[in-house]
Amino acid sequence: MKKTFLKHEHFQQLLDALKEAGFACIGPQVRDGAIIYDTLTTSTQLPWGLRDFQEPGSYRLEKTAEYKAFSWANGPQALKPYLFKAEETLWRVKRDEAGKFIFEAEYAKAPAIAFIGARACDLAALAIQDKVFIEAKQIDIRYQQRRESLLIIAVNCTYASKNCFCVSAGTGPKVNHAYDLVLTEVDQGFVVQSGSERGAAILAKLTLTPASLLQIQQGALEIQQAANMQSKKIPFNNTRALGLALMNKLDHPRWLDVAERCLSCGNCTLVCPTCFCHSERDKPSLEATSSEHVREWDSCFTKGHSYITGKVIRPDTQSRYRQWLTHKVATWFEQFDVSGCVGCGRCITWCPVGIDLTEELSAMVEDFHET
Ligand code: SF4
Ligand code: SF4
Repeated sequence: MKKTFLKHEHFQQLLDALKEAGFACIGPQVRDGAIIYDTLTTSTQLPWGLRDFQEPGSYRLEKTAEYKAFSWANGPQALKPYLFKAEETLWRVKRDEAGKFIFEAEYAKAPAIAFIGARACDLAALAIQDKVFIEAKQIDIRYQQRRESLLIIAVNCTYASKNCFCVSAGTGPKVNHAYDLVLTEVDQGFVVQSGSERGAAILAKLTLTPASLLQIQQGALEIQQAANMQSKKIPFNNTRALGLALMNKLDHPRWLDVAERCLSCGNCTLVCPTCFCHSERDKPSLEATSSEHVREWDSCFTKGHSYITGKVIRPDTQSRYRQWLTHKVATWFEQFDVSGCVGCGRCITWCPVGIDLTEELSAMVEDFHET
C-alpha cells in the first residue's frame, strides 16, 4: 500500500474527516499526570512534546526537545475499556401489569469510535479479547457491536519505556495487522498508510503528499530504535515452552517470596489489556418492581473471585498471584492458543510495589530445561 505524508499541522483534518464520517474520536491526552485516552476534538489536546518515564512502580511525564505527539510508550489504558466496559448492564427485568417478569437485553449505545494511537501491543491484546468475546461459543453482543464499528488508527512505536518488552513477547513495536490507518511519526509529521477501504476513504479527504524515501527510512529507523531500547525480556520468548517451564515450578519458593511483596490490590489485572475476568450482580430498584443485571471488571486477586460453592479456593496472595501468572503465560495457551501477555509492561509500571513479572518468571524458570 502506498505511503503518504501528513504534516503535523494537518492532523486536525484527520479528526474533522473522522467526525464527518460519523466517528467519535478517542485519542491520547494528558490527565492527572498520565497519558490517557478520551474524546479528542482538537489536535491541540494531543500530548505534544511529552515522553513517559516508566520504571517498576513508577510513571512520570517529561518534556522532550522534539515537538511530536506520539513520542511516548503507553499509559494505563489500552483499547480494553472502550470495548469491554468496566461496568455495564447486560439485561433488565421488570414486572408487567399482570405481575409477569419481562426480560430485556441491553445493547451497546455508544457511537462508532475511531481510536487514535493504538500500538502494536494494544492490537495484539485486541486480537486476544476478540477470541474471548466474539470468537468463542458465546458471543458478547455488546462487545461485538462496538468492535464491528471500531476504526483503528494505529501508531508505530518510536520510543519504548524501560518496562516495555514487546520484542521478546513477539508483538511489536511495529504494527503489522488489524489497522485502518497506521502512522509513523517523523520530523514535521507522519508517514501514513491505509490498511482498509475505510481507512483509504478517510485518507482521500486529507492534504497529503507522497512520503519521501528519507521520511520512510527515518520512520523505519525510529521503529528499530524503539526495539533496540528494550532491555526487558520474557523467558522462552513468551512461547508454550515458558508455560511448560512455569507449570513445573508450582512449588517454587519464589511464589511465597512474591506473595510477601504483593498487596493483592488487582491493579495489574485492571491495567492489563488482555485480562477479562469479571463478576455479575443484580441491582434491584427500591420499589422492587425492576432490576438491572450488571457486569463489572473483577480480578483474580480478589477474595470473591475464587468463591466457589461455599468456599474461597484461593484464600491467600500466593495462590492468587500464581493463578494470575500461570493463567497469563501457561494455561492461556490451552484456552486461546496464544500467550495472555503482549509485553506492554503496564502491570509492572502500575503495580504499587513494582513487582515485575519478567523478573518473577526469570527467577522461577531460569534453571528449567525441556527434556
Ligand atoms: S501481563 Fe503485564 S505486560 Fe503482559 S499484557 Fe498484561 S499488563 Fe501487559
Ligand atoms: S502484583 Fe502488584 S499490582 Fe498486582 S495485585 Fe500484587 S501488588 Fe497489586
